[in-house]
Amino acid sequence: MERYYWNLSAAQAKGEACVLCGAAYRDNGPKRTPVGRDPATEAEVYACASPCVAEIVAETDRMNREMREAAGLDEDESHADLGCDGEFRRLLRDLRVLVGGEALLAVMQDLPTLRYVLQMTAVHAETAMIRSRKLLARAQAGDG
Ligand SMILES: [Zn+2]
Repeated sequence: MERYYWNLSAAQAKGEACVLCGAAYRDNGPKRTPVGRDPATEAEVYACASPCVAEIVAETDRMNREMREAAGLDEDESHADLGCDGEFRRLLRDLRVLVGGEALLAVMQDLPTLRYVLQMTAVHAETAMIRSRKLLARAQAGDG
C-alpha cells in the first residue's frame, strides 16, 4: 500500500497501533490490516480490520471521486497510455505527498518537524519533476 499517513504516534508509525483509532495491537487485540506507510521510514502501518479499515476505504473512495472530478478524468482518458507502467500513478503519489506537506507547513510550529517536512518536500518535488519530464517527453513523442 502506497498511501502515507502523517502525524503518527511512535506506536502507530511502528505498526503497533491503529492509525485511525489508536488501538494497540497485542496478542488478543483487534485484527490489523496494512493500510499504508509512515513517510519517514516507509514502514508499513495498520488499521483495525473492523471497523477502521471500512472507514479508510470510504474516505479513500470519496477522495478518488473528488480527484477524478477535479481532474476531469472521467471525461478524458487521454492520459491512460501514459500511465501504463505506473509512472503516472507514482507522479500522483508524489503530488499527494506535496499537498500533505503544504497542509503541515501551514500549521507547523517546531523546528525538527519543519526540517523533516522540508526534506520530504525536496525529495518528492524532485521525483515529481523527473517523472513529469519523462511523461511529457513520452506524450510529445506520441504526438509526432
Ligand atoms: Zn482502529
